[in-house]
Amino acid sequence: MILRWINHWKTRRVLKHHPIPHAFWHRLMVEDPLFHGLSSVEKAHLRELTTLFVHQKNYYASNELNLTQPMAITISAHACLLILELGLDYYQGWQDIRVYPSAFLVERDEADEQGIVSHQQHVLGGEAWLHGPVVLDWEGFKAESDQLKPGRNLVLHEFSHKLDMLNGAANGMPPLHKTMNRTHWTQAFSEAFEKLKHQVEHGHHAAINPYAATDPAEFFAVATEYFFTAPNLLIHHFPAVYEQLSLFYRQDPNAHLSI
Ligand SMILES: [Zn+2]
Repeated sequence: MILRWINHWKTRRVLKHHPIPHAFWHRLMVEDPLFHGLSSVEKAHLRELTTLFVHQKNYYASNELNLTQPMAITISAHACLLILELGLDYYQGWQDIRVYPSAFLVERDEADEQGIVSHQQHVLGGEAWLHGPVVLDWEGFKAESDQLKPGRNLVLHEFSHKLDMLNGAANGMPPLHKTMNRTHWTQAFSEAFEKLKHQVEHGHHAAINPYAATDPAEFFAVATEYFFTAPNLLIHHFPAVYEQLSLFYRQDPNAHLSI
């Protein structure tokens, strides 16, 4: 009880002493299409979550990026949209967010299915590590978020991997709420995944970003991108997936669109 009171007091203190400047927040809500569907109550709640999130996490800049407070707030606001109805606890257990100015090169040893290890180089736009940092490419994120590209949002993608990792390595199934049904989730996602994989393998038009056909974890992350940026497309192609995501995130972005 006392601990809860102290936590509550700390929360109020952060909100009072480190508020996001009103003018900046207002501009972000107006200019960033991702937030257009939110009610004023939801926007106020998002501002609180974002304030606490920026305060709790450590932001690092790489490759001489001039990482400013408005940039960190923008990334955080996108990340917190995912947990608007879930709470900050969903982002517990890790600390760091590393931001690169543009796509970045990673080099590491990787084992293939036969266990043969080779030295690999990849150019990446983002990464989410189990218990570790989220890594982002600022330029790539801005290019997608400024214009709201349907189905594309790097921050939503990487942070949804973090939610997926709450119950172990990313596998496309985050911890479901007690009211949800595992069978319904598995059925919705595996049918959609197989359908997309079939479309990609046979050179048919892919219903959503073919990257989702890589594996179930990527399918969940890409489906999350569509859920928030192009919910009508996701409902059209994979209604059962939309329904399960709506139960998980406790949000219905498509309802905002149809108002
Ligand atoms: Zn991914």
